[in-house]
Amino acid sequence: MGLFGTMPGISGSIEVVCGPMFSGKTEELIRRVKRAQIARQKVQIFKPAIDNRYHETEVVSHSSISTPATPVNSAVEILQKVFDSTRVVAIDEVQFFDESISIVVEKLARRGVRVIMAGLDQDFKGLPFGPMASLLAIADSVDKIHAICTVCGAPATKTFRKNPKESAQVLVGETDLYEARCRSHADFFGEDQDQLAFFVNLNDSRSKTQNL
Ligand code: ADP
Ligand code: MG
Repeated sequence: MGLFGTMPGISGSIEVVCGPMFSGKTEELIRRVKRAQIARQKVQIFKPAIDNRYHETEVVSHSSISTPATPVNSAVEILQKVFDSTRVVAIDEVQFFDESISIVVEKLARRGVRVIMAGLDQDFKGLPFGPMASLLAIADSVDKIHAICTVCGAPATKTFRKNPKESAQVLVGETDLYEARCRSHADFFGEDQDQLAFFVNLNDSRSKTQNL
């Protein structure tokens, strides 16, 4: 048995592709899947059933590239549906699963499966989305990719919700609800709050220095 108890020469891996909406995560996932298929490896693709924006049983990119996928309602359903012969498991919109997805992908990788995931690293408030922080921590490889800021054309790392009054973290939508933005044009908390936080921190660090 090799590392992680896998067969000699067969070692699984965990890959994460993350970034804001429109950054090309799904395109990249599909690119990796196509290459594995060219190498004649058995691939299974999953997506959370909640994401039915374009299609129930396909993963579809904003540039209309698509590939068939199995919708699942939970992380453990992925484990139940993966065949023994599957070499590569791809999961799109992985941020919609709960924390148990980390255990599931670890189990698959230990069995020698290459797991490729694509998901939003941050929600519309710029905070880690669902299980993404854990997945980024356990991944063997992480690619953080950028979109283009719709305001200034700079690389965009944030997903901006056009109507901030909609406060639920999960609100499935498209260009009707979201835009890719750079940090300067994604003012999640409002200018006043930013300034307040800055002065509180400044005063804190001043009083700490005085106490030294
Ligand atoms: P993601 O899965 O990260 O949301 P997709 O792979 O579905 O992204 O789509 C990426 C494609 O979205 C790009 O190739 C481009 O055609 C299109 N696109 C639309 N708006 C933008 C934007 N603001 N920045 C970059 N690409 C964009
Ligand atoms: Mg996508």
